[in-house]
Amino acid sequence: MQTGQKKFGLVIHGGAGTIERSNLTPEREREYRAGLERALAAGYEILKRGGSSLDATEAAVRVLEDDPHFNAGKGAVFTNAGTNELDAAIMDGKTLKAGAVANLRHIQNPIGLARMVMDKSPHVLMTGDGAETFAKENGVPILPDQKYFFTQERWDALQKMKAAEKNGGVGEKKFIISDQDRHGTVGAVALDQNGNLAAATSTGGTTNKKAGRVGDSPIIGGGTYANNQTCAISCTGDGEYFIRAVVAHETSALMEHRGMPLRDAAETALDRAKQLGGSGGLIAIDKNGEMALPFNTNGMYRGYVDSRGKFVVEIYR
Ligand code: ASP
Repeated sequence: MQTGQKKFGLVIHGGAGTIERSNLTPEREREYRAGLERALAAGYEILKRGGSSLDATEAAVRVLEDDPHFNAGKGAVFTNAGTNELDAAIMDGKTLKAGAVANLRHIQNPIGLARMVMDKSPHVLMTGDGAETFAKENGVPILPDQKYFFTQERWDALQKMKAAEKNGGVGEKKFIISDQDRHGTVGAVALDQNGNLAAATSTGGTTNKKAGRVGDSPIIGGGTYANNQTCAISCTGDGEYFIRAVVAHETSALMEHRGMPLRDAAETALDRAKQLGGSGGLIAIDKNGEMALPFNTNGMYRGYVDSRGKFVVEIYR
């Protein structure tokens, strides 16, 4: 294999929302950037030595799941019942195989279980207790309780949201709920040296969601999609709208059927969610290694690296 000579690339996100310089201390900003860089490095190492885009996206997402700053794995947001319910999906652009999980409560790395659903089950989407039983059968450790996921910041965000609700609605002046309190989903898309695309997304969902609610992240075509003929996409934002606008698949379809270049397709698909009332962003990479990272919020934690090995990490618009 001519490692290092062929084109490859990796794009990641750590959620979109109201992310402003004034809300982030320099120290917090450094922590976010370091987390994104670690995720890029994990995926890049795999792609550089000729590994698969599936392995690279899974590895990058795992790093972000383990990082408490992001709303996935450790650091997941809380439901209105004070629990954590995690969703994730992964898709292989070569075979169009996909694996997804929703409503997990005791799995440290949901993306690993999504991969397992794809590789070791005849199914695409598994949820809740059944998914955890499947995990156990395949040797994935089950956490005894939900303590692992706890972060004070996410807990406080839930309390703030509940108080706002009680006082006549979220967004009331007294309780400014920033998107950052609600969002922070993570995702990765990659092109490997064999020309294969993959997409992976993992999330705790949205703060104060009703128990049992499932967002766009584990919905194939909604928040996650990959197809070697077109591109790989991972979304973040108001999941309900991304599901209804089928944003990830729409991006691919606009390329396939309208012949749109990646960037136009991604922006058009994102606009469809916006027209319905949903904000957010997405990351995409196509079969030629072109990348797009559009968002219609004022920030998105994001980064990318290509075969030349230059890491770029950005937060604000
Ligand atoms: N899209 C995620 C969801 O609705 C949340 C997010 O991206 O912040 O579950």
